[in-house]
Amino acid sequence: MRRAVHYLLMMLAATFLSGMAVDARAASGAANCILATDDLLDSPEAAASSNWVCDAAKLDAVGDHSWVRIPAEALHVEEPVLIGDAMASSGLIIARATSDGRMASRAVGSAALAKNWTTGTRFALPLDSLGGTGPLFVRVDRPLGPDLAHGLKVVSTEAAERDRTGSLVLLGVVLGMLILTAIVSGFMAIALRRWFAAVHFAFSALLVIYVTTAGSLIFLIAPGISLWTRSVISYATLAWAIALLAPFALTFFERDAITPAMRRVAIACGLLVFAGGFLLPLGALLGVSMRAAYNLCFIPGSIATLVITTSAWRKGSEAARVFVMAWSVPFVFSIERLVRNLGLYSLPPIADFGFYLSLAFEAAALMAAVGWRVKALREERDAALAVSDDLAREARHDALTGLGNRRDYDARVWQAGDMLGLIDIDRFKSVNDTYGHATGDRVLEWLGDMLRREVATGSFVGAWRLGGEEFAVVVRAASVELAALELDRVRRGIPLAIDNEVPGLDEPITASAGLAKVDPADPKASYREADLLLYNAKRSGRDQLCFDRRDPLRETRDAAPLLGPQLNLSRKVS
Ligand code: GH3
Ligand code: MG
Ligand code: MG
Repeated sequence: MRRAVHYLLMMLAATFLSGMAVDARAASGAANCILATDDLLDSPEAAASSNWVCDAAKLDAVGDHSWVRIPAEALHVEEPVLIGDAMASSGLIIARATSDGRMASRAVGSAALAKNWTTGTRFALPLDSLGGTGPLFVRVDRPLGPDLAHGLKVVSTEAAERDRTGSLVLLGVVLGMLILTAIVSGFMAIALRRWFAAVHFAFSALLVIYVTTAGSLIFLIAPGISLWTRSVISYATLAWAIALLAPFALTFFERDAITPAMRRVAIACGLLVFAGGFLLPLGALLGVSMRAAYNLCFIPGSIATLVITTSAWRKGSEAARVFVMAWSVPFVFSIERLVRNLGLYSLPPIADFGFYLSLAFEAAALMAAVGWRVKALREERDAALAVSDDLAREARHDALTGLGNRRDYDARVWQAGDMLGLIDIDRFKSVNDTYGHATGDRVLEWLGDMLRREVATGSFVGAWRLGGEEFAVVVRAASVELAALELDRVRRGIPLAIDNEVPGLDEPITASAGLAKVDPADPKASYREADLLLYNAKRSGRDQLCFDRRDPLRETRDAAPLLGPQLNLSRKVS
């Protein structure tokens, strides 16, 4: 937070220092004077007026048909050119006294202004044909900018050309940054399939159009386009780009960073700014100026953005922080522009490039933020996946032994050749009763370890704890007899191993087992069969393995109640 404030303060300081430096340069030299009026004065009337104001601090007074007086010495340059801001006028009248004392004037309509376009919002009118003596008088009809007197200047053709080249280079840099940002965010949108990446692509693409039109590069591509069309496109694309910040923030911020009420406010403000983009052509249709209304459309959104980002920031939203960082530079520049437009001080038109540059900076910074946000989202998703993996694992595993549980056993896909062995500890209840539940647990844990080791060494295909002290193993062997030998080897190792692992037991702990060939089409029947054989082992005195030698697929099921010929392997082997 503190770093962000420092950063903002530094940006503000840099802006104002550079502003003051350029301002000082602009203020030096011969000063223009202004005759602010709404009356339609002709050039002799204006020249003769006593209301001229030349005090630099008061040059911001503007009337609908104000005159500007440029001192004669300013005209003593090679091939003089009048440069000015044409966004500020719908037409000019240029006048100068002739040698016989009369005033010669020339009207310059907006079409002529468009023809003499340079970059940004400026024109450069050659004054060669004008001649005459004394100061130059310029009437600006319906000026829009407050800084009328400073905006008009007479310079040499060479200086105007230099100025134009400099502006073009700057615009080229800004456009290059924006186009690159648009291309990269376009690819990001395709690759990431995130809304905010797609919105950012549209945002940077609109800014490319905005800078191309507002910076007048459009005249290089389409020389026939009118001043009016250029203004409409530039105003509209800026509004639409800014309007896109609402969907951007809503999809970019963390889900819980914006309350539903604020969400609705953001959408409403975004729609208002979007509609603002249509105001200029609408105004032209209705014959009224909509520029003030256009500017007003941004106010609710600006307030809402401040409120939403502040509250998200307070909630610890990382996305809000990044958003504020990215927007601080253009924010400072827009404030600077606003203050300048209020007429508090003046800067040469080149200062507007600061705004374009800051927009390019912002678009690039937001693109980096998009990358960062995607990384954060990926980490969130990975963490959630890890948790769900853990849960899925836990759901299928027995906490005490770590073996698969009954759910895992039930999900098993049985294969031909699988043999199911059920192992049950003998008189386990009395182990609990005699040595305590904790000792009983240790016995179960150890047996789990033992079975897992047998799985690891390949004796068993799998092992599960089905519940209590009953375990299941899958053996794969060429015949039931071979599987029985394998299972019985493990079963008979249990008493000695438990005696080693769980000291203090008076009696050896034995286990009984039942083994049945599995019918993959009906594993439940095979389980019942193995269980019956286990029951048979218990009934026959425990500590033994019972299995059915016959092919169980048909006969054993029929013969199940009788159990058929069985082999008490335990006795036979010992
Ligand atoms: P049999 O030889 O017939 O199998 O006799 P048994 O006592 O082993 O069988 P029975 O089913 O009567 O008792 C099973 C006992 O296993 C009862 C229960 O207290 C114990 N048991 C079940 N789950 C756990 C466990 O997680 N920990 C411990 N310590 N004991 C358990
Ligand atoms: Mg038991
Ligand atoms: Mg039991």
